[in-house]
Amino acid sequence: MNRFAYARPADLAGAVREVAAEPAARIIAGGTNLVDLMKYNVERPTRLIDITRLPGLDAIETTPAGGLKIGALVTNTTVAYDARITTLYPLLASAILAGASPQLRNAASTGGNLLQRTRCYYFYDPGTPCNKREPGSGCSARSGVNRIHAILGTSEHCIATHPSDMCVALAALEATVHVTGPNGDRIIPFDAFHRLPGDHPEQDTTLAYDEIITAVELPPAPFTTHYTYLKLRDRLSYAFALVSVAATLEMDGDTIKTARLALGGVAHKPWRDTAAEDSLSGQPPTAETYARAADIVLAGAKGYGHNDFKIGLARGAILRALEQAAAGTPQSQSDKRIR
Ligand code: SF4
Repeated sequence: MNRFAYARPADLAGAVREVAAEPAARIIAGGTNLVDLMKYNVERPTRLIDITRLPGLDAIETTPAGGLKIGALVTNTTVAYDARITTLYPLLASAILAGASPQLRNAASTGGNLLQRTRCYYFYDPGTPCNKREPGSGCSARSGVNRIHAILGTSEHCIATHPSDMCVALAALEATVHVTGPNGDRIIPFDAFHRLPGDHPEQDTTLAYDEIITAVELPPAPFTTHYTYLKLRDRLSYAFALVSVAATLEMDGDTIKTARLALGGVAHKPWRDTAAEDSLSGQPPTAETYARAADIVLAGAKGYGHNDFKIGLARGAILRALEQAAAGTPQSQSDKRIR
């Protein structure tokens, strides 16, 4: 680990000043990913700016529109067990509880969850080429061991996946990300927050280096009964998703009125497919309806050898998740059995 300075600003404006003054500085909150990356010499910040004690970022508030605004420092555990979340946004609570471990969820912050970096093996190994860690060096995963890698939205420069479970639910729920920086505040639609790799896989998000996430806002949503977060992984606890599916349906009798569908573990960002959602609207909740949606999601899927199995796995996961959502029998994240 390299040597670094440490700062603990008294307020948000001070934190923005600190990070804007030093591009190689990093914000630290829960530290559940950043500290690992520093130990592996993947991240080498010159300064850590500790925002854990900043006032005003640690509450969940009801918005005038009837949604919820979750402060960037609210822990994953607090979000998952907040009564307003479990009642109004059970998909989000379920997705959070599918991730990490209780100890990590106790420390991990809402803002930090959005900024997790990929778990690509080569990204964590400075002895191997990796365009995300060292732009222009190459991608070891394309012709290497790529069992956990992406099947959608890849580029010739990177086939890494985004690791978060929480973000898959936030994509499906059409959250927005509130940020602040030297030029003031702005709000980023969730789908525009994370990037596909393209020519610049070193950039995971559209957040500028001198901006800080202040909150995540959830708009009012009618998805309190027909939802599921289905996570498929190598072991049933403390493992990243090979494929996950966040599915929510608004039912009108025996007809799907509206649908939201997002996948994790398959792309460089949470993969929401609005065309597949549109194909579900106005349709009966049948196997044929689900199959059409899965075909749309996976039309452009491509494997790289070891991860070819993910295409079939994703198809099966979409079918099962939609079936669970329609039946109102969400996947339990407590016993983790796959029904
Ligand atoms: Fe690096 Fe992305 Fe290739 Fe992994 S997939 S080695 S993160 S460039």
